[in-house]
Amino acid sequence: MYVSDCISVNDCGHLTVGGADTVKLAKSFGTPLYVFDENEIRKNIRAFIRSMNEFYNGNGMVVYASKAFCCKEMCRICMQENIGIDVVSGGELYTALSVGFPAEKIVFHGNNKTREELVAAVENGVGRIIVDNLTELETLNEIAASQGKTAGIMFRIKPGIDAHTHDFIKTGQIDSKFGFALETGEAMEAVKAALGMPNVKLRGLHCHIGSQIFDIDPFELAAKVMLELYKDIKEQTGVELPELNLGGGFGIKYLESENPKPYGEYMKNVSAVVKSFSHELGIKTPFVLIEPGRSIVGAAGLTLYTVGNVKNIPDIRTYVSIDGGMGDNPRYALYKADYEIVCANKANEERTETVTVAGKCCESGDLIQENTKLQPVNAGDILAVLSTGAYNYSMASNYNRIARPAVVMVRDGEARVVVKRETYEQITANDV
Ligand SMILES: *Cc1c(COP(=O)(O)O)cnc(C)c1O
Repeated sequence: MYVSDCISVNDCGHLTVGGADTVKLAKSFGTPLYVFDENEIRKNIRAFIRSMNEFYNGNGMVVYASKAFCCKEMCRICMQENIGIDVVSGGELYTALSVGFPAEKIVFHGNNKTREELVAAVENGVGRIIVDNLTELETLNEIAASQGKTAGIMFRIKPGIDAHTHDFIKTGQIDSKFGFALETGEAMEAVKAALGMPNVKLRGLHCHIGSQIFDIDPFELAAKVMLELYKDIKEQTGVELPELNLGGGFGIKYLESENPKPYGEYMKNVSAVVKSFSHELGIKTPFVLIEPGRSIVGAAGLTLYTVGNVKNIPDIRTYVSIDGGMGDNPRYALYKADYEIVCANKANEERTETVTVAGKCCESGDLIQENTKLQPVNAGDILAVLSTGAYNYSMASNYNRIARPAVVMVRDGEARVVVKRETYEQITANDV
């Protein structure tokens, strides 16, 4: 009935997530509230592991892109499921290490890592640092030398793929701030430089062509482009790179009308290309890494809000104002992201109204959705915005000094807080 798998409607007509009544959750923990179904997260992780085993004979690693949703408990879940973690900052690295995440399975990304971040990565033995540019390569070699270590690295490559998604999240093309260009010879130059450096070990190359991608073709094409580069590297240097990191970006269903390809199909098709094409080119089939973020947590989460007032402007529109907004979910304000919204305490009723759901920030653009279908609602009703598990909590801010919501995880109907609600004391803690 509603877009994500882990939600349902109970006998009281209330929306449930992971077997827990969302209206009760709102009452017990307050709103706004992020809620995750832990079993759904684990199910998604295991589906990727299964296809890695099936299609690559286990010759690969699933790496969760933690920028989608990062907190200690999420890192623990990844650790328990025995997958890797991708971090993009010292803060995410710190979070993963703080729960004892094995550093060898950490992948460190970023187009402008600071010296401190690189030092921390080398010191802690991060398995793969994804080097973005030559300046970083030189700095890293020097840091590793000063610590008497060899840093495992991969290079971020722009394969020149135009994935059909929103411009803001399209990163594989030449005009991108991320990585080395192929066409200009920059990538080959970097590979040769790294091979001549004593304190870095080039494990392979990485590409990530964008996010929320529904088609499989751009992924297949990216894999081919990367493998051709592996062949050129072998010819020009004699070195066969052992690993290939194909990034993340698998699309999820935000609306009923959307139809992303199942991940198994993606894994099947891309693995077939990787195996046959490397054979054709005369290179070894590499160890493959994939970095799903959104597809692991996106549909496993939702956000609960309380309606404060309903403002009907005749012949214009109806605003439904909620107790959160762009502070906890900036994605509509940023790029008009789609969401399905349900009145949690009237989930068995028809969505007959067309409304705009507005946040409480002092910005006219602070909207969660425009012209969306909703049950008739009044002040005090609970709204659930679905599929907010990815890039919501992780993008939250304290704009207007609004406290960030708590995060609750539900498992088999039992709920527990995994991130506490922020307090005003915490918001002012660093003020002097
Ligand atoms: C953001 C990102 C991912 C994850 O993307 P999703 O769309 O969330 O799957 C993976 N790898 C890199 C390098 C990224 O920047």
